[in-house]
Amino acid sequence: MDFASLATEYQEKFDVTPQRVFFSPGRINLIGEYTDFNGGHVFPAAISMGTYAAFSARDDRNFRVYSANVPNAGMLTFSLDDLKFDKADNWANYLKGMLFELAKQNLTIDHGFDLFVHGNLPDASGLSSSASMEMLMGEILHAGYGMQLDEVEMVKVGQQVENDYFGLNTGIMDQFAIGMGKKDQAILLDTNTLDYQYAPLALGDYVVVIMNTKKRRELTDSKYNERRAQCEEALRRLQVKLDIKTLGDLSEDEFDENAYLINDDILIKRARHAVFENQRTLKAFEALQANDLKRFGHLVNASHVSLHYDFAVTGKELDTLVETAWEQPGVLGARMTGAGFGGCAIALVKKTNVDEFESAVGKVYEDTIGHPAEFYVAEIADGPKEIQA
Ligand code: ADP
Ligand code: MG
Repeated sequence: MDFASLATEYQEKFDVTPQRVFFSPGRINLIGEYTDFNGGHVFPAAISMGTYAAFSARDDRNFRVYSANVPNAGMLTFSLDDLKFDKADNWANYLKGMLFELAKQNLTIDHGFDLFVHGNLPDASGLSSSASMEMLMGEILHAGYGMQLDEVEMVKVGQQVENDYFGLNTGIMDQFAIGMGKKDQAILLDTNTLDYQYAPLALGDYVVVIMNTKKRRELTDSKYNERRAQCEEALRRLQVKLDIKTLGDLSEDEFDENAYLINDDILIKRARHAVFENQRTLKAFEALQANDLKRFGHLVNASHVSLHYDFAVTGKELDTLVETAWEQPGVLGARMTGAGFGGCAIALVKKTNVDEFESAVGKVYEDTIGHPAEFYVAEIADGPKEIQA
């Protein structure tokens, strides 16, 4: 998608040409899953698939917004004078939520806009279309309205939209990965401290292939909350003897020596994933820095195994994609990415093997699951930005 195609779509809806066009990426997480709310490390990157929007400022305090991805919602309207969450406002709540949360810091605007949105992220598939939308709004407010807010602060506002405005118990990874995205760089983020470090995603002859299960997510939120509660309970039991703030504070050995304190099969498994995944993420970062792609791939595989057996968030669709990927020539590693239960997985595949990889994995998937998967080669992209005419 480019300026011209967005401008045309905008014009069809609003009868005039838009002033400006903005883009905000989605994200993949290379490794470090379900560690963000456990105060651990994550290692995501922004991708070139994302959310585009054509924008024009208005003179009054109203908004008219339309998304080509949610045509059923039609043209949605709201005003600066009523930014409270309203289910009837559908996806526009992400835009309202940003304004609502920013207003808490006395960051306000005094005129609305007309907006035409068109994204190319598959919907609700674990590539963070919601954070993409939040950070898109952040960029519009920053570049379009001159709102002065540090990037990391804008990232935190995005998280508040999910946590406080929508009431979802999510961590900060998605907004951070998107808001702070850099072309061809992955971001090692310590979700405890928000310290971060870029690492060139120099994969040489390899690319990241995104594999979409195309499975409708069901019960993801309730299972996500259950995992979160399990990790919190395990932490509480460890804290009886240990002076730790999060599971991410523990090394593998410290965990093994103290796991008896948890004293419950399921809770031990959940906590073990959080602790080991955090350490694996640090090792994966080191491996990438050292250009040891083989080791990086093994850690990626180990992450999936842990998410399957200890954390139990994979499911048949993701397991079929990942386990089939492991058997293909030219594959360094593969794992689910995002919250799991459906959504997407990633594989590190040799460029010259990508076509045969997609057809082989695609065939096994369709034969086993009954509907086709989709594949995209991920380009690692910059964070939200304006698209020039
Ligand atoms: P994920 O973030 O994993 O993609 P979520 O359920 O958190 O899934 O967010 C998906 C929601 O974000 C959609 O239901 C919709 O409300 C909103 N959204 C994302 N992208 C768009 C878009 N291009 N147009 C309108 N709404 C969008
Ligand atoms: Mg989301």
